Amino acid sequence: ANTTSEFDTIAAISTPPGEGAISIVRLSGEQAVEVACKVFKGKDLHKVASHTINYGHIIDPKTHAVVDEVMVSVMLAPKTYTREDIIEINTHGGIVATNHVLQLLLSYGARMAEPGEFTKRAFLNGRIDLTQAESVMDLIRAKTDRAMQVAVDQLDGSLSHLIKGIRQDILDALAQVEVNIDYPEYDDVETVTTKMLVEKATMVKQRIEDLLATANRGKVLREGLATAIVGRPNVGKSSLLNHLLHEDKAIVTDVPGTTRDVIEEYVNVRDVPLKLVDTAGIRATEDKVEKIGVERSRKAITAADLVLLVLNNSEPLTDEDNELLAATRNKKRLIILNKTDLPVKLDDQELKRQVAAEDIIAISALTTNGIDKLEERIADLFWGGIENSQSNTLVTNARQIGLLNQADQALDDVLKGINDGMPVDLVQIDMTRCWDLLGEITGDSYQDELLNQLFSQFCLGK
Ligand code: GDP
Ligand code: ZN
Repeated sequence: ANTTSEFDTIAAISTPPGEGAISIVRLSGEQAVEVACKVFKGKDLHKVASHTINYGHIIDPKTHAVVDEVMVSVMLAPKTYTREDIIEINTHGGIVATNHVLQLLLSYGARMAEPGEFTKRAFLNGRIDLTQAESVMDLIRAKTDRAMQVAVDQLDGSLSHLIKGIRQDILDALAQVEVNIDYPEYDDVETVTTKMLVEKATMVKQRIEDLLATANRGKVLREGLATAIVGRPNVGKSSLLNHLLHEDKAIVTDVPGTTRDVIEEYVNVRDVPLKLVDTAGIRATEDKVEKIGVERSRKAITAADLVLLVLNNSEPLTDEDNELLAATRNKKRLIILNKTDLPVKLDDQELKRQVAAEDIIAISALTTNGIDKLEERIADLFWGGIENSQSNTLVTNARQIGLLNQADQALDDVLKGINDGMPVDLVQIDMTRCWDLLGEITGDSYQDELLNQLFSQFCLGK
């Protein structure tokens, strides 16, 4: 890793668009101070100490007009995010002034940063590894505090740490193989060596599979648990939805900086990010004739990881209720018995023949009775067991999962090879492949294309 930069100087607005009165324009690279000096009026930024904040104005050198009143942070390499010289200009004049500042920097020697390029440089300059870079991305997109915590832990390097430990074990085993072959102490060195390899491979495999087991939850934390609220007309779906969306729990994101432009609706239930499926179907019917119908419900059910099936406790079960009960039989589901504030008409026994009692939750969307219990159940379904697990490390993305699966496969090949009586040096090749694959997770062996793809997913300015 190099601490002096071999790259040009890049610039971007680092704060989210349209938020707050202060925005930050960030510069990174050898020319960062030079470029900033050309448009800054105040102290000579070449002469100020590193890691200081300096008051002044951004001036358009051509017109001499004041563009904005600013605070400029000067942070010199190598103790910076990118390990390059960094200038951060805190602007106050809103988005127009901020854009103007950026334009000036671009006219005076900086290049517009690509999405994620600051973080890419932090990686290329050896400051962070790939799992940490990925967690920066997760942080930007985190949907709940818990998702944020997982990302923070990764940023801290906990996944890398685990992976590095596993790689070290593999390396030790490979070294042991060499020693055994070069300096045989026993007559049956081959037997001793393969026995050791089986033990090591089995142990490493277990640790990889433990990590893979966390992947499902990691995925949900990243992407949200796809949740469908279904039920026939007037059972109280909209009312329930409104309660789930109330109390500042609604998160509507448009995932900035990605190709997905769709607005997705998330609701944070006790730190479980629910990604609501087809709420348009629920809302659109407010003043029209309700036409969700079983057909549309089926689609939502298919797309969902979790189904909340709402029934009306103050009416007998209908054919449509029964159809929905049948359609969700093989799904992870909770049956919401709504309108429990009204006299009971629904046949409890008939329902319990179709549904496990613990999956039924009685609520009243009118009085809010039982909503707490519902939220608790959702949290239990998701977090059950995990709170007590020894490690807070979660594998959170498809790239990491893919590589772990391949590494797991390589270990299968090791074990199968030994079982089939393959020569040790051939078994070594599969063991080494496993070591390589794990290295790709942390970026200890990386390819340019992978990097570009990875970092292009970042928001601009990160
Ligand atoms: P949806 O068609 O399934 O979305 O049902 P809505 O949420 O629009 O509710 C239909 C009607 O039932 C509305 O008039 C609600 O005010 C009413 N309602 C919803 N939940 C309850 C409840 O728990 N108790 C009572 N008494 N009325 C409810
Ligand atoms: Zn409400």
